[in-house]
Amino acid sequence: MEFSWPIAITVFLLGTAVGSFLNVLVYRMLRNEDWIRGRSYCETCHKQISWYENIPILSYLWLKGRCSRCQTLINPIHPTLELLTGALFLWWYVEGWQVFMAKAWLLPILQPLFWLVIGLVSITIIIADFREMIIPRCSVSLLIILTLLYRLVLILTGEMQAVDLWWSLLWSLILVLVFFFLWWVTKGKSFGFGDVQLALPLGLLLGSWQRIVIGIWLAFLIGAVVGLSLVFSKKKGFRQSIPFGPFLILGTALSLRWGWQLWEAYLKLIGS
Ligand SMILES: [Zn+2]
Repeated sequence: MEFSWPIAITVFLLGTAVGSFLNVLVYRMLRNEDWIRGRSYCETCHKQISWYENIPILSYLWLKGRCSRCQTLINPIHPTLELLTGALFLWWYVEGWQVFMAKAWLLPILQPLFWLVIGLVSITIIIADFREMIIPRCSVSLLIILTLLYRLVLILTGEMQAVDLWWSLLWSLILVLVFFFLWWVTKGKSFGFGDVQLALPLGLLLGSWQRIVIGIWLAFLIGAVVGLSLVFSKKKGFRQSIPFGPFLILGTALSLRWGWQLWEAYLKLIGS
């Protein structure tokens, strides 16, 4: 199947719509609101949001980021999440297609589906952590179960060796212990227990200690850059903590894609 721009754009737009839906879904579930019926409304003036004000990204731009009635600023997290989900879908189409198609039977369907679902579950964690500082336990459990099942299928089809799964389990548990220590030392103030639990599936996804090190390093680096720029723009005080889960997921995603390249670049750097 050849790459085509109309399909790529359609896939991206579909992604932004899914992101918009997930955003509402996660938020309502966290607040125990009815998440099937009921329209979205402005949190300040309770104005119902009409369908043309609910178009992913475009409505935000058109409304210039404000509620049409009370002019309250709309949280930029909404268009960001829509963009992020759109980007996931676009990546899935652009990057994944050729790679996924080259593999043996079953895997051409299973592999892309696996990574898309992992991406979507990760986005529910990003939404919940950004909006309510919660990492939903059901999302973390789902990541663990899906990753283990997927690895099991890879082993059964001969794509992966069982010993690699044991090694990835070992490294993940070490990562969990390191995070547990950080949580204990900081008394849970800048490092939540949700982050400790999240370390397990992220470690399993990354698989090798080199990619885990790169992923965590990226997470801390990006987290620090964003944290410092928020402090300097006076959006958040020093005492207010920003959620770390989204950065962990971002670091993991980057390491999954470029971890080995970064690791080799690092080896060259210290070797010379
Ligand atoms: Zn309003």
